[in-house]
Amino acid sequence: SGINFDKFDAIAVKVSGENPPRPIDSFESANLRKYVLDNILKSGYTKPTPIQKHALPIIMNGRDLMGCAQTGSGKTAAFLLPIINTLLQDVRELIVGPNGCAQPQVIIVSPTRELTLQIFNEARKFSYGSILKIAVAYGGTAVRHQGDNIARGCHILVATPGRLHDFVDRSRVSFESVRFVVLDEADRMLDMGFIPSVEKMMDHPTMVALTERQTLMFSATFPEDIQHLAGRFLNNYLFVAVGIVGG
Ligand code: ADP
Ligand code: MG
Repeated sequence: SGINFDKFDAIAVKVSGENPPRPIDSFESANLRKYVLDNILKSGYTKPTPIQKHALPIIMNGRDLMGCAQTGSGKTAAFLLPIINTLLQDVRELIVGPNGCAQPQVIIVSPTRELTLQIFNEARKFSYGSILKIAVAYGGTAVRHQGDNIARGCHILVATPGRLHDFVDRSRVSFESVRFVVLDEADRMLDMGFIPSVEKMMDHPTMVALTERQTLMFSATFPEDIQHLAGRFLNNYLFVAVGIVGG
């Protein structure tokens, strides 16, 4: 890709929270299913970036995470790989309610259509050829096609907050089968005024309790507002900051 990831190895990593697992040194030593490892290698990734070294074992150990690392440091794979690994390790039946209301097992929210599509495409790449169904929902385009895909049932739904709530408010999506909630680019969501929709999702009557799901937040910065969100929406979480000092 032309990106020199070795430069990230020189950056200090701060980890806080109770009993953090040891970071991995390589994808091969991450205890991933062979299928997932093969898809990583097919993507041309040879070694994990620092945020990936820490996030993979944290998420695979069932912990909540607030991960801060600069743009371009591989945060997408840091959450997608362990989530996909867990879904394939412990497969649960896909539920679609009698009225066609889908119950995704993973909800990934990001602030823009472009980022949402990027995450969707990476998720498809890493789960290529598996049983996993991935759907996407973003605004500025007709609801119909997205809705048809969601209604067929999806393990992973990648969405912008506004379009997600369009589906939730019409009972096309509910949160009772959620195993993972991911907030990507949490700082940008804050800047773009999406926090009320994030709160609406987290506090939704159908949402699985904080202690019964994993919640993961990623951000390029860690200002006080984000710290507040982390405290409110994460349970006994680990905090990993790559090269970010203070708030
Ligand atoms: P961020 O979300 O932190 O801004 P991305 O997840 O978008 O970063 O990753 C930036 C680029 O680096 C993407 O093109 C991605 O495919 C690539 N990438 C991520 N992890 C690795 C890795 N371990 N090895 C090589 N390339 C990687
Ligand atoms: Mg990103």
